[in-house]
Amino acid sequence: MSQEGSPFCSFCGRHANQVKKLIKSPNGNFGICSSCVAICHSLLLKEQGDALEKHPVESNALRVQGKTEPAEPLHLKIATPQEIKATLDACVVGQEDAKKVLSVAVYNHYKRLIFEKDTDVIQHNAHFTRTQELPEHLKQVEVEKSNILLVGPTGSGKTLLARTLAKILDVPFAIADATTLTEAGYVGEDVENIILRLLQAADYDVEKAQMGIVYVDEIDKISRKTENVSISRDVSGEGVQQALLKILEGTECNVPPKGGRKHPEQEYIRIDTTHILFICGGAFVGLDKIIADRVGHKMLGFDKRNFGIHSQKDDDLLRQQVQPEDLIKFGLIPEFAGRLPIVSALKELGQEDLKFILTGTQNALLLQYEKLFAMEGVQLILEPEAIEAIVEKALTFKTGARALRSIVETIMLDAFFIVSQRLEIKKITINAQVITQGIKPIFQ
Ligand code: ADP
Repeated sequence: MSQEGSPFCSFCGRHANQVKKLIKSPNGNFGICSSCVAICHSLLLKEQGDALEKHPVESNALRVQGKTEPAEPLHLKIATPQEIKATLDACVVGQEDAKKVLSVAVYNHYKRLIFEKDTDVIQHNAHFTRTQELPEHLKQVEVEKSNILLVGPTGSGKTLLARTLAKILDVPFAIADATTLTEAGYVGEDVENIILRLLQAADYDVEKAQMGIVYVDEIDKISRKTENVSISRDVSGEGVQQALLKILEGTECNVPPKGGRKHPEQEYIRIDTTHILFICGGAFVGLDKIIADRVGHKMLGFDKRNFGIHSQKDDDLLRQQVQPEDLIKFGLIPEFAGRLPIVSALKELGQEDLKFILTGTQNALLLQYEKLFAMEGVQLILEPEAIEAIVEKALTFKTGARALRSIVETIMLDAFFIVSQRLEIKKITINAQVITQGIKPIFQ
């Protein structure tokens, strides 16, 4: 098992310095590396699993256990921050800061994983070969994960950013809604259900789930209502934060494979959340006032001095100055705010942004409708004034890009209804009056 004096794996041929561990045979003539041991182990488990197929209860437990051991070294496709951002750019309008923050955070998340999980992986990624040459004094340094908080108004693209990331990433991804946690009495279980969703996204592969990414939406809805703990009566929000805090900072949690409440006879899957990256998002309505108070400009004075009237730009500028203390004042418990060290503020989308969302992105809303009509051989034409009118109307709703869909949906609903009945229609023209006065589109 040694070539030119260097021991190697008799199974895969890799040398000792290319693998995590090399185990020698008792006589010292042969060797097997940790990866090949893992592959053999999973083969044995599979055989056992096949034999147990006829006994579903046991085989389910076995399947879960069997997958905790990765069959091979993890192969991660790494995207650079530039690549991640380019993909986000294609789908998400504006929000430059958030896109940059997410791209770098996710990239570093991968790097940490690769570095901490399995040195074998490094060799499969030319990008990270450098990490093997770390200076001695850095080898023991533990790089903590940096969970992310996205603060931004409704319909500004927080969830869209998270969803788009999911497409780019080669790790399991799950989206959870913090408000569902408040509704349940037994918060501990619910919080574990977030991890269950991740496990499902990983096809019950524990190892994979443990390096996934979770987006927790509406995080501001679990804030406690008063800053002072002792007089707080809003224990539910704080309780959920405490439960979430544990999984955010890294814990071993028992996840019931089928979800729901725990009961003693149930099989659990143990998941370590240490390496799971959490992205939290929320609108944090009123946070701008808290920040304004802190930075010393009472809202009125601030507005008069800078913009004459209170504008959205004020809120955007204020949100960008958010500090953990503002989040605590808003109602996050200090430990929770501390576990979200990267905070990025999203801007409220303006007229041009909304217009671009309608027509300019890869999956622009109007292109989607154009496609739906084209499937029936019908051409959809929106006059430029109609697009302006949709945007104007959407702005009055104060729900960001969300309003666009509801406005366009209402107009198109009728059109779909009519077109599907009248096969002679080949063209639909929508002008501004369709939006402003509710008249019917022109069918030709
Ligand atoms: P929230 O910030 O409330 O999570 P979402 O990301 O759910 O908002 O946005 C709602 C919808 O509005 C999305 O499905 C998307 O179509 C659209 N949208 C919101 N923001 C953007 C954006 N910045 N770029 C493109 N589309 C957007």
